[in-house]
Amino acid sequence: MRLLDVHAHLQDEAFDGIVPQIMDEAAEQGLEAVVCAGTTINDWEQVLALSESTNCVLPALGVHPWYVNDNYQKDGDQLCELAPKLCAIGETGLDSLRGDTRLQMESLKIHIDIAKSHNLPLVIHCVKAFDEMYAILNKTRPAVPVLFHGFNSSTQLARQMRKVCDCYFSLSPSFCSPDKVRKRKTSELVRYLYNENLLLLESDAPFPVSVDHKKASTWPSDIAQSLKNLSGVLETTEEITADQIFKLSSRMFNNKNRIRP
Ligand SMILES: [Zn+2]
Repeated sequence: MRLLDVHAHLQDEAFDGIVPQIMDEAAEQGLEAVVCAGTTINDWEQVLALSESTNCVLPALGVHPWYVNDNYQKDGDQLCELAPKLCAIGETGLDSLRGDTRLQMESLKIHIDIAKSHNLPLVIHCVKAFDEMYAILNKTRPAVPVLFHGFNSSTQLARQMRKVCDCYFSLSPSFCSPDKVRKRKTSELVRYLYNENLLLLESDAPFPVSVDHKKASTWPSDIAQSLKNLSGVLETTEEITADQIFKLSSRMFNNKNRIRP
């Protein structure tokens, strides 16, 4: 069984000194790679260093909407220079609950331009700002894959976003928990995304809601449990589910050919 965690922050200080242990545990669960997303200009070097130390860490860089500031233009220039090294642009996006929406929009537009010109997928964080996101995507039409990470909204919203971009949706371990995933709305979304081949898995590590109580946060290996829970809802085998999700994930993020076919 092959898996790929499409969203984690291995550079986070919570993981200082234990990244090799995390990657070993991930490999034991069948994970072949982790997309590691930078969130501010201050952690980009760390993300790149991790990706240079092992083929299993696929680098994505962006400015998380919480951390966008007046330097967005300069940050964009630097991102553009680093883009040839990357497997994706992000984390980027909009969050109406935290940060300055006007600056977030400007920064997002720059990130979309960079993704377009380097033909890289976009990794999007969107919280309570889907109308604004729709408007920007409708106007810019990125023409590269757009991943809505940590998606926990409705099937209707997913359908809506597909009208303006080639979008995909990754689900977190807490979204895939047995209690949640059996709920009618959640299982409807899971079936829709899987049947349309739009579903990916992420740990968002180190997300502070642990599915394994021995740890303080999620780890990439947690997506193995997500897969198990989803397969139950989809009434198929873990192998079949994993195969479809892995093929989609690697098609999207393996543009530097770091994962064997
Ligand atoms: Zn993130």
